[in-house]
Amino acid sequence: MKKCNDHFFDFLVSHAKSYGFIFPSSEIYGGLNAVYDYGPYGIELKNNIKEFWWKSMTFLHENIVGIDSSILMRSEIWDASGHVNEFNELLIDNKDSKKRYRPDILIKEHVEKHFSKNLRKKENILFRLSKSLKKKDFLDLKTLVDELNIRDSISKTKNWTKIRHFNMMFQIKNENKKDLYLRPETAQGIFCNFNNVIKSNRMKIPFGIAQIGKSFRNEIFARKFIFRMREFEQMEMQFFIFPEEEKKWYEYWKDIRFKWHLFLGDQKNYKLRDHDHLAHYASAGSDIEYNFPFGFQEVEGIHSRRDFDLKKHEYFSKKKLRVFESRKNYIPYVIETSLGLDRLFLAIFTSSLKEEKLENGNTRIVLKLPPYLSPIKGAIFPLVKKDGLPETAKKIFNDFKIHHKLIYDEKESIGKLYRRQDAIGTPLCFTVDYETIETNTVTMRYRDSMQQKRVHIKDICRIIKYETGLEKILKKLS
Ligand code: ATP
Repeated sequence: MKKCNDHFFDFLVSHAKSYGFIFPSSEIYGGLNAVYDYGPYGIELKNNIKEFWWKSMTFLHENIVGIDSSILMRSEIWDASGHVNEFNELLIDNKDSKKRYRPDILIKEHVEKHFSKNLRKKENILFRLSKSLKKKDFLDLKTLVDELNIRDSISKTKNWTKIRHFNMMFQIKNENKKDLYLRPETAQGIFCNFNNVIKSNRMKIPFGIAQIGKSFRNEIFARKFIFRMREFEQMEMQFFIFPEEEKKWYEYWKDIRFKWHLFLGDQKNYKLRDHDHLAHYASAGSDIEYNFPFGFQEVEGIHSRRDFDLKKHEYFSKKKLRVFESRKNYIPYVIETSLGLDRLFLAIFTSSLKEEKLENGNTRIVLKLPPYLSPIKGAIFPLVKKDGLPETAKKIFNDFKIHHKLIYDEKESIGKLYRRQDAIGTPLCFTVDYETIETNTVTMRYRDSMQQKRVHIKDICRIIKYETGLEKILKKLS
């Protein structure tokens, strides 16, 4: 099945649901737009991705430490960070369908659809779009929508409103009716703990603070499954440096992060792109993009935030946020790496989900996840449900379950059990058969090659560790 079509995307969404990876939120009440729940295998996969990132950051770099800051913070933080005034998206409504869109996305999608072969025209329009966005020239953006004859895909009309701003933070009230915000990025929790981390952990420049946590954005154009959600998770790292070393560290982190994604094994579908339109806090930025079923889109951003945030927080909080080193007193610059966990999940799911033709003419659906990310590392089955085979298989499961995430299953025939494990990405299956009773060996089957061989029961734990452990990949990364 081709990866770049709607059919594959529908298939992916349906596979994720039927095999317990991702469910629509509040489904029994009709669902909630752009909010999703992770199912039993989804949460295992997500936790493994988190562990991989966390260890890559905080184990492999001795000068990076982690924190877990709260989602709710004082609202002054968002004034200082510029989010109250600047964290806006553009908005346009179709008056007939009453649907709301981001005009920049409408234009980009239109250009992709109609001018993908006319590169000159495409580039001209995108250049004009980028210029108008930079200058905040809404009138020209609206003219562009009109000139391109963009129609709403639902009402099919060109009956558009004016373009206006929309702040993307979710606002709530505390018990005193004071405004609070659900954080739209995890980074500010890091900046506000700058002094605490320096003091408690005796950090010296250069050093980093990593964090994984939920963020919330009232996205206007919240479509494409878990690509753009209103509640999502970020894995962010802020790296504090001498200001003179900005370029060196920006290039360093761009390189490290891009290589990290390539390690996931789908090299040709990742690319690095420098920003043409910078966020309000950034002086340089690039995106790592993945080729999703709907085209190349951002998975991770690497930005130089310079001293923008610490300086603003110094001003607003009246507290010094500086380092005092070698008789010098200065606000460090910051290089940020900001990765969307859910987007990475979708990228990994996209690259792993395959429909394969088998030699016997049948097809199988297989999720070829990197084994260190697989939700289940090994499945243990009895060949038949009698003659003591289930008891032996259960004993193997019980003996090794504290070491690895395993599954015991006897609910279907062996062929169907293998297919099910293929579909959820389990790299190894172990089947207990009549020979097991005599030789203490089981049949081990590899997910990807479907090759089988006999292995001794006492070796199972070691084999799973070798084949699916994170250590091997972390060693390569370091
Ligand atoms: P986009 O341009 O796609 O809206 P962004 O540039 O606003 O993304 P950043 O603010 O740089 O994104 O956030 C860092 C990362 O957080 C992104 O690279 C992305 O992986 C993730 N992210 C941002 N917004 C969302 C969202 N609404 N849903 C899921 N992930 C998101």
